[in-house]
Amino acid sequence: MTRKYVVRTYGCQMNEHDSERIAGLFDADGMDQADSEDDADVIVLNTCCIRENADNKLYGHLWRLKDWKDEKDGRQIVVSGCMAQKDKDTVQAKVPHVDVVLGTHNVHRAAELLDHATTHGPITEILNEAVIDDHALFPSALPARRSTSFNAWVTIQIGCDNNCAFCIVPAVRGREISRPFDEILDEVRELASQGVTEVTLLGQNVNSYGRDLNLELRRSGEDVRVTTMFADLLAQVGAIDGIRRVRYTSPHPKDMRSDVLLAMASTPSVCEHLHYPLQSGSDRVLALMHRGYTGERYLSRLAEARAMIDDLAVTTDIIVGFPGETEDDFVRTLEVAAEADFDSAYTFIYSPREGTEAAGMVEHFVDPAVIADRFERLRTVVEHSAVIKHQARVGRREEIIVEGASRRNEGVLTGRTRQNKLVHFPHKEMLRPGTYAYVDITYAAPHFLKGELVEITHVPTHKVRVPLLSVS
Ligand code: SAM
Ligand code: SF4
Repeated sequence: MTRKYVVRTYGCQMNEHDSERIAGLFDADGMDQADSEDDADVIVLNTCCIRENADNKLYGHLWRLKDWKDEKDGRQIVVSGCMAQKDKDTVQAKVPHVDVVLGTHNVHRAAELLDHATTHGPITEILNEAVIDDHALFPSALPARRSTSFNAWVTIQIGCDNNCAFCIVPAVRGREISRPFDEILDEVRELASQGVTEVTLLGQNVNSYGRDLNLELRRSGEDVRVTTMFADLLAQVGAIDGIRRVRYTSPHPKDMRSDVLLAMASTPSVCEHLHYPLQSGSDRVLALMHRGYTGERYLSRLAEARAMIDDLAVTTDIIVGFPGETEDDFVRTLEVAAEADFDSAYTFIYSPREGTEAAGMVEHFVDPAVIADRFERLRTVVEHSAVIKHQARVGRREEIIVEGASRRNEGVLTGRTRQNKLVHFPHKEMLRPGTYAYVDITYAAPHFLKGELVEITHVPTHKVRVPLLSVS
Protein backbone atom coordinates (compact mmCIF):
# COMPACT_ATOMS: atom_id res chain seq x y z
CA MET A 1 0.00 0.00 0.00
CA THR A 2 1.24 3.52 -0.80
CA ARG A 3 2.61 5.26 2.26
CA LYS A 4 1.31 8.71 3.06
CA TYR A 5 2.94 11.75 4.65
CA VAL A 6 2.08 15.11 6.17
CA VAL A 7 4.55 18.01 6.40
CA ARG A 8 3.94 20.61 9.12
CA THR A 9 5.88 23.84 8.69
CA TYR A 10 6.93 26.33 11.34
CA GLY A 11 8.49 29.71 10.56
CA CYS A 12 9.37 31.66 7.46
CA GLN A 13 9.00 31.32 3.68
CA MET A 14 12.39 29.57 3.46
CA ASN A 15 10.97 26.82 5.62
CA GLU A 16 7.75 26.72 3.61
CA HIS A 17 9.82 26.24 0.50
CA ASP A 18 12.00 23.54 2.12
CA SER A 19 8.76 21.76 3.06
CA GLU A 20 7.64 21.86 -0.56
CA ARG A 21 10.77 20.12 -1.59
CA ILE A 22 10.60 17.49 1.17
CA ALA A 23 7.11 16.76 -0.15
CA GLY A 24 8.48 16.66 -3.71
CA LEU A 25 11.19 14.19 -2.68
CA PHE A 26 8.65 11.94 -0.95
CA ASP A 27 6.38 12.08 -4.02
CA ALA A 28 9.32 11.11 -6.21
CA ASP A 29 9.94 8.20 -3.82
CA GLY A 30 6.42 6.85 -4.43
CA MET A 31 4.64 8.28 -1.42
CA ASP A 32 1.39 10.29 -1.38
CA GLN A 33 0.32 13.37 0.54
CA ALA A 34 -2.14 12.49 3.37
CA ASP A 35 -5.25 14.54 4.10
CA SER A 36 -4.62 14.54 7.84
CA GLU A 37 -2.32 13.15 10.52
CA ASP A 38 -4.81 10.28 11.14
CA ASP A 39 -4.39 9.21 7.56
CA ALA A 40 -0.58 9.57 7.56
CA ASP A 41 2.25 7.07 8.00
CA VAL A 42 4.92 9.77 8.21
CA ILE A 43 4.76 13.17 9.88
CA VAL A 44 7.47 15.71 9.15
CA LEU A 45 7.88 18.69 11.47
CA ASN A 46 9.92 21.26 9.57
CA THR A 47 11.06 23.55 12.36
CA CYS A 48 12.02 27.14 13.09
CA CYS A 49 14.20 28.40 15.95
CA ILE A 50 14.09 32.16 15.44
CA ARG A 51 12.32 32.69 18.76
CA GLU A 52 12.38 30.71 21.99
CA ASN A 53 8.72 29.68 22.15
CA ALA A 54 9.34 27.64 18.98
CA ASP A 55 11.48 25.22 21.10
CA ASN A 56 8.74 24.63 23.63
CA LYS A 57 6.10 24.20 20.93
CA LEU A 58 8.19 21.69 18.99
CA TYR A 59 9.02 19.43 21.92
CA GLY A 60 5.42 19.61 23.16
CA HIS A 61 4.16 18.58 19.73
CA LEU A 62 6.69 15.73 19.49
CA TRP A 63 5.54 14.28 22.81
CA ARG A 64 1.89 14.52 21.76
CA LEU A 65 2.81 12.53 18.63
CA LYS A 66 3.91 9.53 20.71
CA ASP A 67 0.30 8.26 20.93
CA TRP A 68 -0.16 8.82 17.20
CA LYS A 69 2.96 6.75 16.50
CA ASP A 70 1.98 3.94 18.87
CA GLU A 71 -1.50 3.59 17.28
CA LYS A 72 -0.22 2.02 14.05
CA ASP A 73 2.82 -0.06 13.09
CA GLY A 74 5.32 1.55 10.75
CA ARG A 75 4.51 5.15 11.57
CA GLN A 76 7.53 7.46 11.49
CA ILE A 77 8.38 10.98 12.69
CA VAL A 78 10.86 13.25 10.93
CA VAL A 79 12.24 16.49 12.39
CA SER A 80 13.92 18.83 9.92
CA GLY A 81 14.83 22.53 9.61
CA CYS A 82 16.50 25.13 11.81
CA MET A 83 15.69 23.66 15.22
CA ALA A 84 17.05 20.28 14.11
CA GLN A 85 20.20 22.00 12.85
CA LYS A 86 20.55 23.79 16.20
CA ASP A 87 19.74 20.88 18.53
CA LYS A 88 21.39 18.08 16.51
CA ASP A 89 21.63 14.81 18.56
CA THR A 90 19.64 16.25 21.45
CA VAL A 91 16.38 15.94 19.48
CA GLN A 92 16.51 12.13 19.60
CA ALA A 93 18.06 12.20 23.08
CA LYS A 94 15.10 14.23 24.38
CA VAL A 95 12.44 12.46 22.29
CA PRO A 96 13.53 8.90 21.50
CA HIS A 97 10.49 8.09 19.34
CA VAL A 98 11.72 10.45 16.58
CA ASP A 99 12.91 8.42 13.58
CA VAL A 100 14.83 10.93 11.46
CA VAL A 101 16.54 14.23 12.28
CA LEU A 102 17.98 16.20 9.38
CA GLY A 103 19.28 19.76 9.21
CA THR A 104 19.14 22.73 6.88
CA HIS A 105 22.06 21.64 4.69
CA ASN A 106 20.80 18.18 3.74
CA VAL A 107 17.09 18.58 3.03
CA HIS A 108 17.79 16.80 -0.27
CA ARG A 109 18.47 13.61 1.75
CA ALA A 110 14.99 13.48 3.31
CA ALA A 111 13.67 10.47 1.36
CA GLU A 112 16.93 8.49 1.65
CA LEU A 113 17.14 9.07 5.39
CA LEU A 114 13.53 7.96 5.82
CA ASP A 115 14.30 4.74 3.90
CA HIS A 116 17.40 4.27 6.02
CA ALA A 117 15.37 4.63 9.23
CA THR A 118 12.83 2.07 7.96
CA THR A 119 15.50 -0.61 7.57
CA HIS A 120 18.15 0.37 10.11
CA GLY A 121 16.34 2.36 12.80
CA PRO A 122 16.51 5.99 14.00
CA ILE A 123 19.05 8.33 12.42
CA THR A 124 20.33 11.89 12.91
CA GLU A 125 22.23 13.46 10.03
CA ILE A 126 23.34 17.08 10.37
CA LEU A 127 25.94 18.66 8.08
CA ASN A 128 27.92 21.63 9.35
CA GLU A 129 27.77 23.50 6.08
CA ALA A 130 26.32 23.34 2.60
CA VAL A 131 28.20 21.15 0.15
CA ILE A 132 29.08 23.67 -2.56
CA ASP A 133 29.34 21.29 -5.50
CA ASP A 134 26.09 19.67 -4.67
CA HIS A 135 23.42 20.57 -7.18
CA ALA A 136 20.86 20.00 -4.47
CA LEU A 137 22.14 23.02 -2.55
CA PHE A 138 19.25 25.30 -3.51
CA PRO A 139 15.76 24.24 -2.56
CA SER A 140 14.35 25.26 -5.91
CA ALA A 141 16.79 22.99 -7.76
CA LEU A 142 15.03 19.92 -6.41
CA PRO A 143 11.70 18.30 -7.08
CA ALA A 144 9.04 20.29 -5.29
CA ARG A 145 5.38 19.79 -4.51
CA ARG A 146 4.39 23.43 -4.64
CA SER A 147 1.63 24.20 -2.20
CA THR A 148 -0.08 26.47 -4.68
CA SER A 149 0.29 26.30 -8.40
CA PHE A 150 -0.16 29.88 -9.62
CA ASN A 151 2.64 31.35 -7.52
CA ALA A 152 6.01 30.01 -6.48
CA TRP A 153 8.91 30.76 -4.20
CA VAL A 154 12.29 30.77 -5.87
CA THR A 155 15.43 30.63 -3.76
CA ILE A 156 18.11 32.98 -5.03
CA GLN A 157 20.47 32.80 -2.07
CA ILE A 158 20.97 30.64 1.01
CA GLY A 159 22.60 31.49 4.35
CA CYS A 160 23.59 34.91 5.65
CA ASP A 161 26.94 36.67 6.12
CA ASN A 162 25.63 39.34 8.51
CA ASN A 163 25.95 39.14 12.25
CA CYS A 164 22.88 40.81 13.70
CA ALA A 165 23.40 40.37 17.43
CA PHE A 166 19.93 38.88 18.04
CA CYS A 167 19.79 36.46 15.14
CA ILE A 168 20.43 32.73 14.99
CA VAL A 169 19.99 32.42 11.21
CA PRO A 170 23.73 32.53 10.30
CA ALA A 171 24.37 29.72 12.82
CA VAL A 172 21.68 27.42 11.43
CA ARG A 173 21.66 28.38 7.75
CA GLY A 174 25.40 28.89 7.23
CA ARG A 175 27.26 31.38 5.10
CA GLU A 176 25.71 33.28 2.22
CA ILE A 177 25.81 31.53 -1.15
CA SER A 178 24.13 32.98 -4.25
CA ARG A 179 22.49 30.70 -6.73
CA PRO A 180 23.80 31.03 -10.30
CA PHE A 181 21.96 33.76 -12.23
CA ASP A 182 21.03 31.62 -15.25
CA GLU A 183 19.78 28.80 -13.09
CA ILE A 184 17.28 31.17 -11.46
CA LEU A 185 16.11 32.48 -14.83
CA ASP A 186 15.75 28.90 -16.14
CA GLU A 187 13.63 27.94 -13.19
CA VAL A 188 11.35 30.97 -13.55
CA ARG A 189 10.96 30.29 -17.29
CA GLU A 190 10.04 26.69 -16.51
CA LEU A 191 7.52 27.82 -13.90
CA ALA A 192 6.04 30.37 -16.32
CA SER A 193 5.69 27.69 -19.01
CA GLN A 194 3.61 25.72 -16.49
CA GLY A 195 1.28 28.67 -15.93
CA VAL A 196 2.85 30.18 -12.79
CA THR A 197 2.31 33.95 -12.99
CA GLU A 198 3.69 35.19 -9.67
CA VAL A 199 7.12 34.47 -8.18
CA THR A 200 8.70 35.52 -4.89
CA LEU A 201 12.49 35.61 -4.83
CA LEU A 202 13.83 34.41 -1.48
CA GLY A 203 17.02 35.20 0.42
CA GLN A 204 18.07 36.56 3.82
CA ASN A 205 19.76 39.61 2.32
CA VAL A 206 18.69 39.73 -1.31
CA ASN A 207 20.47 43.04 -1.95
CA SER A 208 23.82 41.34 -1.68
CA TYR A 209 22.82 38.69 -4.23
CA GLY A 210 25.62 37.89 -6.66
CA ARG A 211 28.55 39.56 -4.89
CA ASP A 212 30.04 36.15 -4.05
CA LEU A 213 29.52 34.93 -7.64
CA ASN A 214 31.46 37.91 -9.00
CA LEU A 215 34.16 37.49 -6.38
CA GLU A 216 34.62 33.90 -7.48
CA LEU A 217 34.93 34.98 -11.14
CA ARG A 218 37.43 37.64 -10.15
CA ARG A 219 39.49 35.09 -8.25
CA SER A 220 39.52 32.82 -11.27
CA GLY A 221 41.12 35.64 -13.28
CA GLU A 222 38.11 37.22 -15.01
CA ASP A 223 37.96 40.99 -15.25
CA VAL A 224 34.65 41.61 -13.47
CA ARG A 225 33.59 44.17 -10.89
CA VAL A 226 32.81 42.62 -7.51
CA THR A 227 29.34 44.05 -7.31
CA THR A 228 25.87 42.82 -6.49
CA MET A 229 23.46 41.65 -9.19
CA PHE A 230 20.06 41.85 -7.55
CA ALA A 231 18.80 44.78 -9.64
CA ASP A 232 19.67 42.92 -12.83
CA LEU A 233 18.08 39.75 -11.58
CA LEU A 234 14.88 41.55 -10.68
CA ALA A 235 14.65 43.16 -14.11
CA GLN A 236 15.38 39.92 -15.97
CA VAL A 237 13.02 37.77 -13.92
CA GLY A 238 10.37 40.43 -14.37
CA ALA A 239 10.80 40.37 -18.15
CA ILE A 240 10.09 36.64 -18.48
CA ASP A 241 7.02 35.96 -20.61
CA GLY A 242 4.00 35.00 -18.53
CA ILE A 243 5.30 36.41 -15.24
CA ARG A 244 2.82 39.07 -14.15
CA ARG A 245 4.02 39.67 -10.60
CA VAL A 246 7.45 39.52 -8.97
CA ARG A 247 7.98 39.91 -5.24
CA TYR A 248 11.05 39.46 -3.07
CA THR A 249 12.04 39.13 0.56
CA SER A 250 14.07 40.22 2.49
CA PRO A 251 16.15 43.21 1.56
CA HIS A 252 18.57 44.59 4.15
CA PRO A 253 18.41 48.40 4.61
CA LYS A 254 22.19 48.66 4.90
CA ASP A 255 22.61 47.20 1.40
CA MET A 256 19.61 48.72 -0.38
CA ARG A 257 20.85 50.63 -3.42
CA SER A 258 19.20 52.95 -5.92
CA ASP A 259 19.71 50.47 -8.77
CA VAL A 260 17.31 48.03 -7.02
CA LEU A 261 14.70 50.77 -6.57
CA LEU A 262 15.16 51.74 -10.21
CA ALA A 263 14.67 48.12 -11.29
CA MET A 264 11.49 48.00 -9.21
CA ALA A 265 10.24 51.25 -10.73
CA SER A 266 11.03 50.33 -14.32
CA THR A 267 9.97 46.67 -14.39
CA PRO A 268 6.17 46.63 -14.65
CA SER A 269 5.77 43.14 -13.21
CA VAL A 270 7.69 43.95 -10.00
CA CYS A 271 5.03 44.66 -7.38
CA GLU A 272 4.79 47.96 -5.54
CA HIS A 273 5.57 46.38 -2.19
CA LEU A 274 8.74 46.70 -0.15
CA HIS A 275 9.30 44.63 2.97
CA TYR A 276 11.94 46.73 4.67
CA PRO A 277 12.99 45.43 8.11
CA LEU A 278 13.63 48.28 10.56
CA GLN A 279 14.25 46.25 13.77
CA SER A 280 14.70 49.44 15.87
CA GLY A 281 14.50 53.20 15.36
CA SER A 282 17.23 54.00 17.89
CA ASP A 283 20.71 54.52 16.46
CA ARG A 284 22.22 53.23 19.69
CA VAL A 285 20.22 49.98 19.56
CA LEU A 286 20.80 49.60 15.81
CA ALA A 287 24.54 49.84 16.49
CA LEU A 288 24.31 47.25 19.29
CA MET A 289 22.39 45.03 16.89
CA HIS A 290 25.13 45.54 14.20
CA ARG A 291 22.52 46.51 11.63
CA GLY A 292 24.77 48.95 9.78
CA TYR A 293 22.31 51.86 9.35
CA THR A 294 20.77 54.65 11.39
CA GLY A 295 17.12 55.63 11.74
CA GLU A 296 17.76 58.68 9.52
CA ARG A 297 19.42 56.63 6.81
CA TYR A 298 16.56 54.14 6.90
CA LEU A 299 14.00 56.93 6.50
CA SER A 300 15.87 58.72 3.73
CA ARG A 301 16.22 55.50 1.67
CA LEU A 302 12.53 54.90 2.23
CA ALA A 303 11.69 58.41 1.03
CA GLU A 304 13.80 57.74 -2.08
CA ALA A 305 11.92 54.47 -2.66
CA ARG A 306 8.57 56.21 -2.37
CA ALA A 307 9.65 58.99 -4.68
CA MET A 308 10.75 56.49 -7.32
CA ILE A 309 7.95 53.92 -7.03
CA ASP A 310 4.39 55.08 -7.32
CA ASP A 311 1.93 53.79 -4.73
CA LEU A 312 4.54 51.76 -2.84
CA ALA A 313 3.32 49.73 0.15
CA VAL A 314 5.92 49.33 2.88
CA THR A 315 5.96 46.64 5.57
CA THR A 316 8.59 45.93 8.20
CA ASP A 317 9.90 43.82 11.09
CA ILE A 318 10.51 45.46 14.49
CA ILE A 319 11.94 43.91 17.65
CA VAL A 320 10.79 45.26 21.02
CA GLY A 321 12.96 44.85 24.13
CA PHE A 322 16.41 44.23 22.65
CA PRO A 323 18.84 44.02 25.63
CA GLY A 324 19.56 47.50 26.98
CA GLU A 325 16.66 49.18 25.10
CA THR A 326 15.76 52.25 27.19
CA GLU A 327 12.53 54.23 27.18
CA ASP A 328 14.30 56.88 25.04
CA ASP A 329 15.43 54.21 22.56
CA PHE A 330 11.92 52.88 22.35
CA VAL A 331 10.38 56.32 21.88
CA ARG A 332 12.76 56.78 18.94
CA THR A 333 11.43 53.50 17.49
CA LEU A 334 7.89 54.88 17.82
CA GLU A 335 8.96 58.10 16.10
CA VAL A 336 10.68 56.36 13.21
CA ALA A 337 7.76 53.92 12.82
CA ALA A 338 5.29 56.83 12.75
CA GLU A 339 7.37 58.71 10.21
CA ALA A 340 7.88 55.61 8.07
CA ASP A 341 4.11 55.33 7.86
CA PHE A 342 4.07 51.56 7.45
CA ASP A 343 1.29 49.62 5.76
CA SER A 344 1.85 46.89 8.32
CA ALA A 345 4.53 45.54 10.63
CA TYR A 346 5.55 42.21 12.10
CA THR A 347 6.39 43.13 15.67
CA PHE A 348 8.42 40.71 17.77
CA ILE A 349 9.29 40.56 21.43
CA TYR A 350 13.05 40.04 21.73
CA SER A 351 13.81 36.39 22.37
CA PRO A 352 17.30 35.34 23.49
CA ARG A 353 18.78 32.66 21.24
CA GLU A 354 21.65 30.70 22.73
CA GLY A 355 24.95 31.35 20.99
CA THR A 356 24.00 34.80 19.68
CA GLU A 357 25.77 37.90 20.99
CA ALA A 358 22.63 39.47 22.46
CA ALA A 359 21.78 36.33 24.44
CA GLY A 360 24.95 37.01 26.47
CA MET A 361 23.80 40.52 27.46
CA VAL A 362 21.78 39.04 30.33
CA GLU A 363 22.37 41.91 32.74
CA HIS A 364 20.71 44.25 30.23
CA PHE A 365 17.61 42.15 29.57
CA VAL A 366 14.50 44.33 29.69
CA ASP A 367 11.76 43.60 32.22
CA PRO A 368 8.99 41.55 30.49
CA ALA A 369 6.27 43.87 31.88
CA VAL A 370 8.04 46.89 30.33
CA ILE A 371 8.35 45.01 27.03
CA ALA A 372 4.65 44.09 27.07
CA ASP A 373 3.72 47.74 27.56
CA ARG A 374 6.06 48.90 24.77
CA PHE A 375 4.74 46.20 22.47
CA GLU A 376 1.19 47.52 22.86
CA ARG A 377 2.28 51.11 22.28
CA LEU A 378 4.08 50.08 19.08
CA ARG A 379 1.03 48.11 17.92
CA THR A 380 -1.11 51.22 18.32
CA VAL A 381 1.28 53.33 16.21
CA VAL A 382 1.52 50.72 13.47
CA GLU A 383 -2.23 50.06 13.35
CA HIS A 384 -2.86 53.79 13.11
CA SER A 385 -0.86 54.11 9.90
CA ALA A 386 -2.18 50.76 8.58
CA VAL A 387 -5.80 51.88 8.91
CA ILE A 388 -5.13 55.23 7.27
CA LYS A 389 -3.29 53.53 4.40
CA HIS A 390 -6.15 51.09 3.95
CA GLN A 391 -8.84 53.78 4.14
CA ALA A 392 -7.06 55.64 1.36
CA ARG A 393 -7.68 52.65 -0.91
CA VAL A 394 -11.48 52.72 -0.49
CA GLY A 395 -13.10 53.80 -3.77
CA ARG A 396 -10.17 52.61 -5.87
CA ARG A 397 -10.18 49.86 -8.50
CA GLU A 398 -7.43 47.33 -7.85
CA GLU A 399 -6.26 44.23 -9.65
CA ILE A 400 -6.17 41.19 -7.38
CA ILE A 401 -5.00 37.62 -7.84
CA VAL A 402 -7.54 35.18 -6.41
CA GLU A 403 -6.13 32.97 -3.66
CA GLY A 404 -9.28 30.96 -2.87
CA ALA A 405 -12.38 30.92 -0.71
CA SER A 406 -12.30 32.78 2.57
CA ARG A 407 -11.72 30.43 5.51
CA ARG A 408 -14.66 31.95 7.39
CA ASN A 409 -17.21 32.32 4.60
CA GLU A 410 -17.48 30.09 1.53
CA GLY A 411 -19.43 32.77 -0.32
CA VAL A 412 -16.47 35.12 -0.13
CA LEU A 413 -13.24 34.91 -2.11
CA THR A 414 -9.88 36.33 -1.06
CA GLY A 415 -7.29 37.87 -3.29
CA ARG A 416 -4.14 40.00 -3.07
CA THR A 417 -3.43 43.34 -4.63
CA ARG A 418 -0.03 44.23 -6.07
CA GLN A 419 0.64 45.96 -2.72
CA ASN A 420 0.10 42.53 -1.09
CA LYS A 421 -3.12 43.61 0.59
CA LEU A 422 -5.70 40.98 1.34
CA VAL A 423 -9.12 41.70 -0.21
CA HIS A 424 -12.32 39.79 0.56
CA PHE A 425 -15.10 40.00 -2.01
CA PRO A 426 -18.40 38.13 -2.51
CA HIS A 427 -18.80 35.94 -5.58
CA LYS A 428 -21.69 34.41 -7.50
CA GLU A 429 -19.55 31.81 -9.22
CA MET A 430 -16.31 30.30 -7.98
CA LEU A 431 -13.15 31.76 -9.52
CA ARG A 432 -10.13 29.49 -9.82
CA PRO A 433 -7.15 30.44 -7.63
CA GLY A 434 -4.71 32.25 -9.87
CA THR A 435 -7.44 34.25 -11.67
CA TYR A 436 -6.71 37.98 -11.99
CA ALA A 437 -9.62 40.37 -11.63
CA TYR A 438 -10.46 43.99 -10.92
CA VAL A 439 -12.31 44.73 -7.69
CA ASP A 440 -13.65 48.02 -6.41
CA ILE A 441 -12.51 48.54 -2.81
CA THR A 442 -15.45 49.33 -0.55
CA TYR A 443 -14.23 48.90 3.05
CA ALA A 444 -10.99 49.08 5.03
CA ALA A 445 -9.91 47.31 8.25
CA PRO A 446 -6.36 47.33 9.70
CA HIS A 447 -5.48 43.92 8.27
CA PHE A 448 -7.73 43.50 5.21
CA LEU A 449 -9.93 45.25 2.65
CA LYS A 450 -13.36 44.38 1.24
CA GLY A 451 -14.41 44.87 -2.35
CA GLU A 452 -16.82 44.10 -5.20
CA LEU A 453 -15.83 42.10 -8.28
CA VAL A 454 -15.78 44.19 -11.47
CA GLU A 455 -14.22 42.04 -14.19
CA ILE A 456 -11.86 39.16 -14.76
CA THR A 457 -8.60 40.19 -16.42
CA HIS A 458 -6.73 36.91 -16.72
CA VAL A 459 -7.84 33.30 -16.54
CA PRO A 460 -5.24 30.92 -15.11
CA THR A 461 -3.64 28.31 -17.33
CA HIS A 462 -1.74 26.29 -14.76
CA LYS A 463 -2.59 22.67 -14.14
CA VAL A 464 -4.10 22.00 -10.74
CA ARG A 465 -0.69 20.98 -9.45
CA VAL A 466 2.67 22.04 -10.80
CA PRO A 467 4.50 18.86 -11.83
CA LEU A 468 7.78 17.92 -10.22
CA LEU A 469 10.67 19.99 -11.45
CA SER A 470 13.48 17.94 -12.84
CA VAL A 471 17.07 18.38 -11.73
CA SER A 472 19.12 19.08 -14.84
N1 SAM B 1 17.04 38.56 7.03
C1 SAM B 1 15.96 39.31 7.51
C2 SAM B 1 16.43 40.71 7.91
O1 SAM B 1 17.59 41.01 7.96
O2 SAM B 1 15.57 41.50 8.24
C3 SAM B 1 15.29 38.69 8.72
C4 SAM B 1 15.05 37.28 8.80
S1 SAM B 1 14.39 36.73 10.33
C5 SAM B 1 13.99 35.12 9.81
C6 SAM B 1 12.80 37.48 10.46
C7 SAM B 1 12.62 38.42 11.59
O3 SAM B 1 12.63 37.76 12.82
C8 SAM B 1 13.70 39.47 11.76
O4 SAM B 1 13.55 40.53 10.87
C9 SAM B 1 13.54 39.90 13.19
O5 SAM B 1 12.68 41.01 13.31
C10 SAM B 1 12.92 38.67 13.85
N2 SAM B 1 13.88 38.07 14.78
C11 SAM B 1 15.03 37.44 14.49
N3 SAM B 1 15.66 37.04 15.60
C12 SAM B 1 14.88 37.41 16.64
C13 SAM B 1 14.98 37.30 18.06
N4 SAM B 1 16.03 36.71 18.63
N5 SAM B 1 13.98 37.81 18.82
C14 SAM B 1 12.92 38.40 18.25
N6 SAM B 1 12.77 38.55 16.92
C15 SAM B 1 13.73 38.07 16.12
FE1 SF4 C 1 19.53 37.42 10.68
FE2 SF4 C 1 20.59 39.80 10.22
FE3 SF4 C 1 21.07 37.78 8.53
FE4 SF4 C 1 18.63 38.88 8.65
S1 SF4 C 1 20.51 39.88 7.99
S2 SF4 C 1 19.12 36.69 8.64
S3 SF4 C 1 18.43 39.37 10.79
S4 SF4 C 1 21.75 37.91 10.66
